[in-house]
Amino acid sequence: LIKISNLSKSFADTKVLQSLDMRVNSGEVVAIIGPSGSGKSTLVRCIAGLEPVSGDEILLDGEAVVNTASTHGKVGMVFQNFNLFPHFTVGENIIKPLKTVLKMKVDIATEKAKTLLDKVHILDKFDQYPNSLSGGQKQRLAIARALAMEPEIIIFDEPTSSLDPKLAHEVFETISDLAKEGQTMLIVTHQINAIRRFATRVVFLNKGKIEVEGTPDYIFNQADNQILQQFLKQVD
Ligand code: ATP
Ligand code: MG
Repeated sequence: LIKISNLSKSFADTKVLQSLDMRVNSGEVVAIIGPSGSGKSTLVRCIAGLEPVSGDEILLDGEAVVNTASTHGKVGMVFQNFNLFPHFTVGENIIKPLKTVLKMKVDIATEKAKTLLDKVHILDKFDQYPNSLSGGQKQRLAIARALAMEPEIIIFDEPTSSLDPKLAHEVFETISDLAKEGQTMLIVTHQINAIRRFATRVVFLNKGKIEVEGTPDYIFNQADNQILQQFLKQVD
């Protein structure tokens, strides 16, 4: 689904990503972990088309990702700070984009919104405004809104880092449900224990390079990798 070859990215004279190679296959749930500043957000922003990328280093369905137009409808993003529309109700947060982006009729869009809100267990909040929701509910609304566009991949950048553990758990339950349905996902998170059950692969990024990658069990058993061990000690 995604093929990254020799991707480098700098800001001014800081090299953030260094000749990175990576693949994501359909149905995979790939977790990206790594120290602060290692380039995790930059990497996923590049994949989503949110950072300018020069050539064909990133291919999505075989086509170069150069901007948001090239990922439109194919990539859904869920951020740490929710990015909801505060002046729309919960229902409208999903219905409005379905109408404007997918040109869907209002009754069909409303049905779809209800199905998705039910799936993330906040259908009872349909007529409320986002500011009346808990952080976990806000994030589940953001997930439902991303799902509405039926993206090929959903990218999460630290979706639970502003939530307390109980609310974070709810959000990971939702993400776990999506994993069971075969939704392709890329998840940047520090909460590696929470994703251990359902991540198909863990990528450990360090200083803009992939230090080591493999199944969660493989990653947790890399006792000889000092950099990884030091990182794992600091999280969870
Ligand atoms: P964190 O865990 O703290 O979120 P991260 O792994 O997501 O870290 P990035 O946000 O990708 O790290 O940042 C990697 C490096 O790139 C940092 O040194 C950061 O200061 C720099 N950087 C990121 N975005 C920009 C920007 N728009 N302009 C300049 N420098 C940037
Ligand atoms: Mg980040």
